[in-house]
Amino acid sequence: MNTENRLQSEEYSSGKVDILSLYLPELEKLIRDFGEPSYRARQIYTWLHEKRVLSLEEMSNIPKSLKQKLSENCRIPRMELVKSRHSAQDGTCKAAFALEDGNIIESVFMPYRHGNSVCISSQAGCRMGCRFCASTLGGLARNLAASEMLGQVYAMEREGGQRVSHVVIMGTGEPLDNLEQVVRFIRILSDEAAGGISQRNITLSTCGLVPQIRQLAGEHLQVTLALSLHASNDELRRSLMPIANRYSIAECLDACEAYFRETGRRISYEYALIRGENDGPEQARELAGLLSGRNCHVNLIPVNPIEERDYRKSQPERVRDFQAELERHGINATVRRKMGADIDSACGQLRRKQMTETKKKGGDI
Ligand code: SAH
Repeated sequence: MNTENRLQSEEYSSGKVDILSLYLPELEKLIRDFGEPSYRARQIYTWLHEKRVLSLEEMSNIPKSLKQKLSENCRIPRMELVKSRHSAQDGTCKAAFALEDGNIIESVFMPYRHGNSVCISSQAGCRMGCRFCASTLGGLARNLAASEMLGQVYAMEREGGQRVSHVVIMGTGEPLDNLEQVVRFIRILSDEAAGGISQRNITLSTCGLVPQIRQLAGEHLQVTLALSLHASNDELRRSLMPIANRYSIAECLDACEAYFRETGRRISYEYALIRGENDGPEQARELAGLLSGRNCHVNLIPVNPIEERDYRKSQPERVRDFQAELERHGINATVRRKMGADIDSACGQLRRKQMTETKKKGGDI
């Protein structure tokens, strides 16, 4: 299944240029290469990213001859909404999309008081293997193109029916395993001439690919970096996250420090609380010791149980105690509010369901 998907995606990417993934100067070069004036590029860019049309036909001020050249050489990748679920409780909306090669991805729209937020996927599947995560169970199918990440934001804005001000790259996939396309996505999304979402309102979450954290720091973006820590020592972390066999917590924290130095952005640390595994007062103290003196924020997330594993959520009083212990040591910590509890909004669950249903139907979407 994985090899098949990868082959299909190569077929799709072999031919025409994906114009939704291009920076404006790249689009200008393409248009000049067609022998057309480069101001046309800005018009097309506006159609794609501001008006968000889904086809060349809709670009009404573009001459027919140029549209012809575009349709012969370029494409706007399509995503088809295959399922959406709206929470009656809090307005959260979760959607599954089929990509052109049949891969399924999922995104979530979350209305908050401070603005609407969209959580997007950066890969179809994931190869990081975190033990508690549903997104990694089927392995990695392929990386997403920048256009497929932008497509999620644009589609969720349509689906949610309201403007999006915040984006979190916390859906399926490891964004730093797809760094080049993720950086491209962030730059286009935050471009004033396109989506115009402030980089300060974009959060990228990583399981801790150390060299890529340093590479990202070198890009000098203003996005918030979140590190999925989930453990207070290396041995515990190795039991939950295979990536911990490659990089120690100390190496991750050093790389985060470098990110903070380069960008001035405070780091967020994610900590999923798993009953009896990592949620005791001794772990809270150990975690506080690791983070003391750092400009940071800890997000505590009672783990979302998944069918395939028997990890359970920490009890509410255990969560409160853990938070209190951190705060006693001067570490800023919040407990993440659970959104969309009534619509399976835990990581990767809608995608897995949809993939199983699609398989049962014989692969047709
Ligand atoms: N690969 C990236 C981003 C995607 S996962 C990363 O690891 O950070 C986004 C966040 O959800 C991560 O902090 C991840 O560890 C967490 N997560 C995954 N499965 C979860 C679950 N079942 N319950 C709670 N958090 C989970």
